[in-house]
Amino acid sequence: MSKSQPIFIYGIPIKDDRGKLKNCQLCGAKFTMSVKEHQCKRCKRAVCDKCAPNKAQVQKADGLSKKSHRLCNFCKDESDSLKRFLEQYKISFNKDSFSQQWLQSFGTDTAKAKNDFLNALDDAKLSKDTNAYDIFKAKLEVVINDIDGFVNYSIKDFMVAALKNVESFRQKEVVKTSILRVAGTLLLLYPQIGYSHEVVLITYFLLCFASEASAYILLTAIYAHILPSQLYPKANTKYDLVNENAIVVGILRDALQVDSNDMSVIKSFLSQKLRCYLVTLSINLFLFETTFFIISSVLMSGSNGYMDLLAQMAVLCQLSNQEMQKNKFNHEETELFMLRSLRTNQLSVLYKQTQNCDFESYKKVYITTRSDSIKVDNLNLSARQSMIKPDMQKVSEINQKLQEQVDRRDLENKKLNEEIIQLRDKVKQLQKENSILLSQQQNNDSEMYKIKLHEMRIDNSDLKSQIEQLKNEISKYKLQIEGGAKEKATKQKTETVDSDYENDLQEISQFKQKYEQQIRNLKKQAEEKKQQNQPNQIQIDELKENYENKIKLLQKQVIQLQSQDNTEEIRDLKIQNQQLQKKLEKMKDERNKSELIQQKNDEIELITELNEELTKENQRLAKQLRDLKSQSGASSAQQIKVLEEQNKLLELKLEQYQILIQELVNIIDKVKYQKQKQLEFSDMKFKQKEDLEDVKMVAEIRTVQTQLLKGMLKENQAQISDLISNITQMRQVLEKSKSLKL
Ligand SMILES: [Zn+2]
Ligand SMILES: [Zn+2]
Repeated sequence: MSKSQPIFIYGIPIKDDRGKLKNCQLCGAKFTMSVKEHQCKRCKRAVCDKCAPNKAQVQKADGLSKKSHRLCNFCKDESDSLKRFLEQYKISFNKDSFSQQWLQSFGTDTAKAKNDFLNALDDAKLSKDTNAYDIFKAKLEVVINDIDGFVNYSIKDFMVAALKNVESFRQKEVVKTSILRVAGTLLLLYPQIGYSHEVVLITYFLLCFASEASAYILLTAIYAHILPSQLYPKANTKYDLVNENAIVVGILRDALQVDSNDMSVIKSFLSQKLRCYLVTLSINLFLFETTFFIISSVLMSGSNGYMDLLAQMAVLCQLSNQEMQKNKFNHEETELFMLRSLRTNQLSVLYKQTQNCDFESYKKVYITTRSDSIKVDNLNLSARQSMIKPDMQKVSEINQKLQEQVDRRDLENKKLNEEIIQLRDKVKQLQKENSILLSQQQNNDSEMYKIKLHEMRIDNSDLKSQIEQLKNEISKYKLQIEGGAKEKATKQKTETVDSDYENDLQEISQFKQKYEQQIRNLKKQAEEKKQQNQPNQIQIDELKENYENKIKLLQKQVIQLQSQDNTEEIRDLKIQNQQLQKKLEKMKDERNKSELIQQKNDEIELITELNEELTKENQRLAKQLRDLKSQSGASSAQQIKVLEEQNKLLELKLEQYQILIQELVNIIDKVKYQKQKQLEFSDMKFKQKEDLEDVKMVAEIRTVQTQLLKGMLKENQAQISDLISNITQMRQVLEKSKSLKL
């Protein structure tokens, strides 16, 4: 597009980000080979497949596109709701719809407006200062074309839809004629306002909701009651908006409770951009929905409209605060975010909050700087006088009560939210512990089985190498046999076989010798033990004999002493006797112990016998070998056969072994599976599950409770805001009636 950006109507430049971003601008998904990047032809966002499944015709500079283009989900929702809005309120160019409510807030209605407009048209013919009007008329065509080409996609959709009752070839002419009558009359009657392109833009927007007459009255009201004369195009002075900036900052601080640390970035944004937002009434800076919300609330505020506009600016800054911090001084990025992402529901919530703000202190600043150069005699204020005076005392009492309720609910809500957060943390903790336990168990099991498997594999390879060895031997034998058949030498072969057998025999006899040596050693050890035990036994026997002799002696003495009738000595001796008998008892125990030793000796003897048997077995084997040796020569083939059979057996065994290993592996898998199952049904797991279930239930109940409370809170807030707007209106009436009385 080679068309240059218009310099006179404020708008947001929308960058074409296609191919420059790594992630989807709606869902944040990373663009890859499978996640393709698309561009929404309406908002120009770079989006993924999932976020842009729809295609539709889109508005272009030269009208509706012929082809269908990809539309992101955000735009799809927005354009659908725009259509619904237009239908529901029967909105059409040069037709009264919302204008009726707006006129009411200035104390007039469509009938009066019609009358006033006809008078104004007549008056305008008599106007002598036509300078502003002449400039306006000369530029109108170009400006309307620019508006057509450069309003943002959302406003464009709206304007086109509002004109759908007019044949397309007539549309531009119809728009031009109406704007000329409405804005032209204003400029002829109030040349002190002066001409700017924004006048055309505002008139165009108003005409989408109003007849020419209503649009004229509303346009007059905007310049007479809303925008201060410092912002008139004709003012042309460098009015620096210090007061306005201060008011916005004050609302941010007092009503929206924005941290003072965040204020510097907001202040920078305001000082750069506030003028554009005010002189255009923010038309073309946001999506249609947002723009409508701002303008409607401004017009509904009547002569408080300017304060309302500043409060709306505060709300916009608050909502874009994070984005401002992120972009610091790149205001264009922040504005693009505002255009694409600000939603009217967010706006309305914060806007209500600003209504609690005491505007009186701010208003004084504004009123003292305001010029009263225009007299707007066609605004009929009589409607306001008829309003009933409200009982302000009662209203404020109800207000207070409602506020208290809201505060209480807020507190309860906060508590519930905290509880939910705690419960969520607990659930998370439990889940974490559970997964740790599970992974530990699995690790342990698999470690053990790995070791076992490894061991079995080693065994397996041992067997394999044994078989390999045997195979080698067999092939060696085969070679020898073949060689022997060709040459004469069965003898030679026999000799080698013989020598092999001799070697075997030698090995066996060495083994036998080693075995005999071991047996000898064992025998020797047994003998030594016997000898160690024997003196013990002799000593015990000797001692026993000694004691027995002593007892006998003592008994003799007792008898002797008894005969001597020496009772005392008898008693002593009796005691001695008893003691000696005890000692004897003890010695008998010792004897038992020595019997145990005897038992051990018997065992040693048994082992010795076993060894002897083994020796015999060895001898038998040696004999067999000798027999084999005698059969040699002719029976080599037989030997090979035997070896081959052995080989087969071993291979069979290996197979079995492998099957066994496979079975073991299967068992391991089975055990693993069972363990896992066990774990799932184990008490611990079950309990945890129950806990989680409990926590979830409680959290659900809390969520439902919270939602209920939130609903009640919303209702209360709505009641409050209703009351507040009532109060505001009543105050206005009061003021007006006061000023009228004066
Ligand atoms: Zn996406
Ligand atoms: Zn889009």
